[in-house]
Parts: sequence; structure tokens; C-alpha cells
Amino acid sequence: MPVASSADMDALIKNAGNSESAIGRFAPSPTGPLHFGTLLAALGSYLQAKSCAGSWFLRIEDLDPPRVVPGAADAMLRLLEQLGFEWDGDIIYQSHRFKRYQQILEQLREQGEVFACSCSRREILASAPHPGEEGFVYPGTCREGIRGRRSERAIRLRVPDEEIIYHDRIFGEQRQNLERDVGDFVLHRADGLFAYQLAVVVDDIDAGITQVVRGADLLSSTPRQIYLYRCLNIVPPDYFHLPLAFGDNGKKLSKRNGDMGLITRENGSNMLWKGLVFLGQSPPEELFNSTPGELLCWGRENYHPEKIPAKNRQISFA
Ligand code: GLU
Repeated sequence: MPVASSADMDALIKNAGNSESAIGRFAPSPTGPLHFGTLLAALGSYLQAKSCAGSWFLRIEDLDPPRVVPGAADAMLRLLEQLGFEWDGDIIYQSHRFKRYQQILEQLREQGEVFACSCSRREILASAPHPGEEGFVYPGTCREGIRGRRSERAIRLRVPDEEIIYHDRIFGEQRQNLERDVGDFVLHRADGLFAYQLAVVVDDIDAGITQVVRGADLLSSTPRQIYLYRCLNIVPPDYFHLPLAFGDNGKKLSKRNGDMGLITRENGSNMLWKGLVFLGQSPPEELFNSTPGELLCWGRENYHPEKIPAKNRQISFA
């Protein structure tokens, strides 16, 4: 089954790298309330798209039901709206797209790119040569077929012994040998869910995304995603990975790390200000007590991605 008609593909290839038709997105996982780390991804992707009159889409990454916190997506959307973010088109929910992921998985199976794997995590850990991106590098156990009468657990993508090289617009050249550093990776998990790596690529392709702006914690996932684009014969988007903000305790700001950096309607302006500063955009002092709308407007008109520091840093909310 084709991913897209050749006309669609021509349009996608033309879009990639053409800043006049920039199409960006913000893709939060609804696993808790909006915090500063997520706000940076919203702000960076919004400014990158809107500063060149592009489109900015929203996608809720509710792929993994056990991790989804009920009500978190709605609360996040309401807050973004209150902070003056305006998105284009309808919001995409990954939980509505399982059929599409299945279709692409079938296509990859027909192309001979994937194989069924019967290994449990424990077995892989015991036989993996060294720890990799996922805590281990898959040693290729089931590449040539499942042995004996064992049953299929996951579906993995066969990766080449090749360095994937890409130029991140903020962090510069990145290289990763997929076979050595990651191993054949999972597209369909043992618990029956689709893997993030597959969903994100399929969603970005279907939405015609030309620029992916997100946290630097995903720098090392990008080579896997670029390889998936190659398997699907689609040109990958441009990548801009934003520096990560750490709290006073040196830990990454996240919903799992207490309520440090939580965004509310009341502190929204201040957090947007901090976000612009963190992204190296130096807003003028007189804007300090401005409304979120004014800050976003200033950001759109004065955005310079080359000023974003390629360095994860601590930030204080005291
Ligand atoms: N859903 C991911 C997160 O919230 C972001 C995925 C992406 O932007 O590709 O960290």
C-alpha cells in the first residue's frame, strides 16, 4: 500500500527546505500539566513556523494509554490558548491513528524492512553486547527468523551498519551508527502498542511537516526517524533541537520532577519571558511585564534561530 501518491510525495519533497511554506508542529505527550520544558518546545516550534508566515499544527501524542493523564491534554490546550498561541487546522490525536500506523507497518513488512521478534527485555539485556540508546543494543537475535516455537512479541525495523549523519540547525552535525548504537528497533511493541518512532514519522509525513522543533532529548532518536523516512522514500524535515532546561537540582524539568516550572495562567507571561530569554532571543526590558500576546508578537517579529544556544542549562524559578 503506497504511503502517499507520487503527486503528494512531489509536494512534500518540494515543501522540505522551502521556508515560504514552512509547516511546523508542537507534539506534546499529555502525561501531566504544562511545564517550562514543554513550553519551550511550544514556543520554539511556534516562532520557527510563524516568523516566516508558515503553519503551526498541534498533535497530542496520546499513543501510550497507560501514560496518558486524563484531562491533561485539554488543560494544556486551554492554557496554550490563554497564552495566545494560535494553531492551524484541526488537532491530531495519535490515539485516532492506529489504523494508519498499521497500514505503514504492513507496507514496511511487504518491503522486507521489518521482522518479528520473540525476545523479552530480560533476554536482550542478558545477551546485548553493550548499553545503547534504549538501555541496550538489540543483538539481532531474531533477524533471520524466530527460533523454535516461540511466539512473536514485537516487530522491529532492520537497520544498516551505517552512520546516519544529519545537520541539526541548532546542535550542528550529528552522527549515529544505527546498528552499533541502537540496533534493530521496535515499531510495534510487545504490549500491542505502536512505538513512538513509527508514529512520529508517519504523523509528520501525513501532515507535510517541513520543520521539527523539539527538545534536545530527542537528538538521539532522530537518526532512527531519518532512517524510517528513507525506508518510506520521503525526504525528512529540517531538525531544530532546543536546549533542555534543568531545575535548580540539576534534573530535567518534567512532570515527573515535581512542580518546578509549572505553567499557570497567572505566571504565563513571566514564563514566556523566561522562555524567550532561555532561547537566546533577548527581549527588551520594557516588555518584561507585557501580556503573553505581546511577547509572542515580539517573538514572531524578532526571532533568530541562530541565537539559540546549543547548550542545556539550569534555570531558576525562585
Ligand atoms: N511527544 C514528545 C514529547 O512530549 C515530543 C515528540 C516530538 O516532538 O517529536 O516529548
